[in-house]
Amino acid sequence: MPDIIQLLPDSIANQIAAGEVVQRPASAVKELLENAVDAGATQVKLIIKDAGKVLIQVIDNGAGMSETDARMSLERHATSKIRKTEDLFTLRTMGFRGEALASIAAVSQMELKTRPAEREIGTLIFVEGSEVRRQEPVATEVGTSISVRNLFYNIPARRNFLKSNPVEVRHINEEFQRVVLAHPQIGFSFYINDDAEYDLLPGKLSQRIVSVFGKSYQQQLAPCQEETDLVKLHGYVGRPEAARKTRGEQFIFVNNRFIRSNYLNHAVMSAFEGLIGEGSFPFYVLFIEIDPRHIDVNIHPTKTEIKFDDDRSIYGVVLAAVRQALGTHNLSPAIDFNEDVNIVTKLERATSDQTREIYFDERFQHHLHRTNLEHWETLLEAGKGSRLTQDQARQPVRELKFESAVNLPETSGPVPDRWLVQLEGRYILRQVRSGLMFVDQQAAHERILFEKNLQRLVLKTGESQQSLFPQTVELAPADFALALEMAPEIRALGFRFEVFGRNSFVVEGIPAHVTPGREKALFEGLVEQFKDNQATLSLPIRENLALALARRAGIRHGQMLQKEEMSTIVDQLMACKTPNFTPDGKPTFFIFEFGKIETYFNRQSAQRP
Ligand code: ADP
Ligand code: MG
Repeated sequence: MPDIIQLLPDSIANQIAAGEVVQRPASAVKELLENAVDAGATQVKLIIKDAGKVLIQVIDNGAGMSETDARMSLERHATSKIRKTEDLFTLRTMGFRGEALASIAAVSQMELKTRPAEREIGTLIFVEGSEVRRQEPVATEVGTSISVRNLFYNIPARRNFLKSNPVEVRHINEEFQRVVLAHPQIGFSFYINDDAEYDLLPGKLSQRIVSVFGKSYQQQLAPCQEETDLVKLHGYVGRPEAARKTRGEQFIFVNNRFIRSNYLNHAVMSAFEGLIGEGSFPFYVLFIEIDPRHIDVNIHPTKTEIKFDDDRSIYGVVLAAVRQALGTHNLSPAIDFNEDVNIVTKLERATSDQTREIYFDERFQHHLHRTNLEHWETLLEAGKGSRLTQDQARQPVRELKFESAVNLPETSGPVPDRWLVQLEGRYILRQVRSGLMFVDQQAAHERILFEKNLQRLVLKTGESQQSLFPQTVELAPADFALALEMAPEIRALGFRFEVFGRNSFVVEGIPAHVTPGREKALFEGLVEQFKDNQATLSLPIRENLALALARRAGIRHGQMLQKEEMSTIVDQLMACKTPNFTPDGKPTFFIFEFGKIETYFNRQSAQRP
């Protein structure tokens, strides 16, 4: 056999890697701004046209690059910021992976102009999809100017995926705000299609906050300060009376790097407990300084997530500092876990006392419990064509062990040697006696899981698997209330969770049949999907919940399936009460009958002269 493995050409490898770093114009903006900051600029200008889709330009007066460095900066893993592995732990600069410029250059037409102070003449490089098209000396100011044109011009799918201009501008604006708040000592300006959006003078943090968010912030800022052996914290929180109804304008920086942390956000919110109403969000900009040895920022290429080795202490420091700032650390009540838990039990009791009217019949239960195997196909053939009668469909088949295709069945029995293939990662094609059966894998699995979930809900048999790492889930107040209300049902599905302070749950277990590892996303998704269903379908609560979980945990289009998995799906679908349709009425399968195929060929021959 000849050798078949080859290295990808650089341009393709770069394009693939680029997708991780550059997801949208805002990610390019972030990287370019951070590079300017790292280069020691005191003045940085950002220009975008057409929401960054046509142009993103960042001009700085920083250190600039020599001719060789300019060329090197476009190589993947080329960085002036780390030399050896130890440096990774003492990181102070924003960038460090040396991927940003290479990634951006892989998916755009990029022009780089740069000059270090000690050279008379600068360098111009023009790259297009990782190919250097031109490099020449150029007269230019000290510093660097990078223009990124037509982002994703060579990846149409990516480009089409971009959102409307206002949405993309909003993302860019968010990244801009994060960078300028972290560096108030640097002057920044921002132009959108030639109009000045911001012109921020260098100054103190408080001045920067006011010039970014407006004069009204002058009165509402309460300074925050705290220092322990482990961390230093400083920043501002908004006074409770100024809290807004929408989230946003909440910033936490660790060593000057913006991070997202529900955990630390929770600490801040706890300090506000009792001071602001339900559904209000206070303003805050907090900076945490910590020895880089105690954190790990290298867990995601876009670097907004971070791990602390002692996150409890940091939680405590944040909570204390914000309480102090609010001047109410004696007044604001501590989180009362007991009280919250009581709410759940009360609700639970109330719901279980109610009589439950449900869409459920005995036959259904009976049907799902039988495990003896009779072949559905015989029954299918008995009925004509693709429509099974209710009774045929209700015939039992073997119970199979798995639901989510990722967990392979341990023993699914021998797969009959029948023609069975996956088409386009979407459809399962299966030969049946009357023709060829086309099954929509996603729709089918939705139907299967729906019926199983519903059964679990009704019989309260939802088994749970304990999560290795319990995760906290913070919900919008309305969603939190909704989830609380449905807590008994959600538990019946197999979730284990408890109230964890204001608007949060800690999820400790998920249904046994779901692939672990995405607890938080699954729980949030469940609530989201439930609301979604509520808006579009009028289903009773349980049906809705069963469907919500089916949609979130089911096999999707695009998922490659093993032969056993395909076979199981078809069998399980045929075992469903209503196999022909998804719970919201979309077809799950049809059969292309031989008779029909025949007519195609006959027609052909009939046309022959
Ligand atoms: P990283 O920032 O992770 O090092 P980048 O791909 O963003 O990786 O940049 C690669 C290198 O190019 C940087 O390490 C730096 O030496 C140089 N560089 C990038 N942008 C600038 C700039 N605006 N001014 C000076 N040097 C820059
Ligand atoms: Mg960088």
